[in-house]
Amino acid sequence: MKYNLAVLKGDGIGPEIIDAALLVLRRVEETFGHEFSCHFANIGGAAIDSCGEPLPKETLDICLASDSVLLGAVGGPAWDSLPSELRPEKALLTLRKELGLYANLRPALLLPQLADASPLKPSVIGDGLDLLVVRELTGGIYFGDKGTGEDFAYDTEKYYDYEIRRIARTAFEMAKNRKKKVVSVDKANVLASSKLWRKTVSEVHEAYPEIELSHMYVDNAAMQIATHPGQFDVILTSNMFGDILSDLAATITGSIGMLPSASTGEGRRGMYEPIHGSAPDIAGKNIANPMATILSLAMMLRTAFGLSEEAERVELAVRRALDEGYRTADIFSEGKTLLGTREMGEKIASLI
Ligand code: NAD
Repeated sequence: MKYNLAVLKGDGIGPEIIDAALLVLRRVEETFGHEFSCHFANIGGAAIDSCGEPLPKETLDICLASDSVLLGAVGGPAWDSLPSELRPEKALLTLRKELGLYANLRPALLLPQLADASPLKPSVIGDGLDLLVVRELTGGIYFGDKGTGEDFAYDTEKYYDYEIRRIARTAFEMAKNRKKKVVSVDKANVLASSKLWRKTVSEVHEAYPEIELSHMYVDNAAMQIATHPGQFDVILTSNMFGDILSDLAATITGSIGMLPSASTGEGRRGMYEPIHGSAPDIAGKNIANPMATILSLAMMLRTAFGLSEEAERVELAVRRALDEGYRTADIFSEGKTLLGTREMGEKIASLI
């Protein structure tokens, strides 16, 4: 079978982690006899430098014509002083909106092999951590009305009930194949948008009696993730709260370099990317961890292309590399074998 895929390497460590993931993709191709046709396009700072805008029309067209999008990361200090409309990060917001990708799925799984890399005490981790943050991605404060005056600035958190309804359905559907528990996180004691959020999520829940739903304020949720992470299964939340809480959940799994994400909408097409950014502090040194990108690739194989067996083989290869003691610098500990970005990609590809 032939699959069309847009590949956006982006900035910083983006090209290194994508190149490592493509080694794995090529191995999947050889092993299973598929054909993945990769269409490369510019995005972020690299696109600003070459075309003067973070999301050139050609890039958007390539993404719209593809079955799925694999993204590295965008941004970096070279473009930090640009106005927000022209910054690399704007490309991501526009791309998600244009592709209708309103649901961001961020699994945070603490692999037993990396328990010693978690900043949490073993007594807090307990039986482990396996949660899924379902973050609303195309609404809320990142897209609301904003402005700056001489001595003030503002951003607006605004949600329509249809936006809450569809992301709530995604969370309940995801929970069906997990532990059937959804915690909806908001700030309904203070924010009008959160009051609507809580009411709407409760209404959608009526169609999912088999799923347990509870509500939690975001400040308490942050505390609970750090102190009792094992209580969570699916966390459903808004764009900004999800952005923050998923980084927190990621950190306690050992390294932000381990966690994949998928952004999906109504159809099968999605965008798959690590949750971390372009890590300019380590870019170009061949030391970034490519596992989050490789695991994002696995999510793409499963969700966008329906290739579950292939996805499992990739996930298993990552776990085997860890079992055999291979580590990148961010998760390295005494007695393990240190690998660079490319070498880790080669190792995982060889274990497919
Ligand atoms: P970051 O995630 O890039 O880096 C945070 C820390 O984690 C850094 O110390 C970095 O070295 C480390 N890190 C990140 N990924 C790693 C990996 N794969 N392996 C090992 N270590 C890794 O976040 P930041 O420093 O806040 O942002 C840097 C740039 O990335 C900014 O321009 C920001 O806007 C952008 N950003 C982009 C995305 C995206 O493209 N989706 C997401 C977040 C931030």
